[in-house]
Amino acid sequence: MQLSEKAAYIKGLIDGLELDPTDKQTKVFKLIAELLSDMADEVRELEQCYDDVCDQVDGISEDLSGVEDLLYDEDFTDDLTYSDSDGQDMAYEVTCPNCGRVTYINEDALNDGVIKCPECHEILEFDYNEDELDESEEEE
Ligand SMILES: [Zn+2]
Repeated sequence: MQLSEKAAYIKGLIDGLELDPTDKQTKVFKLIAELLSDMADEVRELEQCYDDVCDQVDGISEDLSGVEDLLYDEDFTDDLTYSDSDGQDMAYEVTCPNCGRVTYINEDALNDGVIKCPECHEILEFDYNEDELDESEEEE
C-alpha cells in the first residue's frame, strides 16, 4: 500500500468513528490525518524529483564516458597535440633553447610568434619566418 493510500485509509477510519465534531480531540485527530496525507503527497513528489535527478545523472554519466572514450582514443588526442605526423600543418620546427626539445608547430602558432615549450613550459619567442616574409613582400 502506498503512503497516500495508508493516509487515506487512516482518515477514513477516523471519519468512521463518528467522533463529536466539537470535541477538541476530534480536531486533533483530523489535523493528524490531514498532516499524514500532506506528508504522503510531499514524499511522492520528492520521490519523483529523485527519479528525475537519477535519470539526469545517468545521462551525464553516459555523456562523460563518451568524452572519456574520445580522450583515451589515441588517434583523437594525437590530433589535438602538436605532432610531426601531419606534414602540411605542422611544417615548422622549433627547438627549445632551454631543454632542446624539438616541437613542430603549425602556421597559426608561427604567426603568433610565440609558443610554450611542451617539455619545460618555457615561453619561446621567435621571429616571424623572415625569409618567407621577404619573398612574399617582394612579390607584391
Ligand atoms: Zn623546453
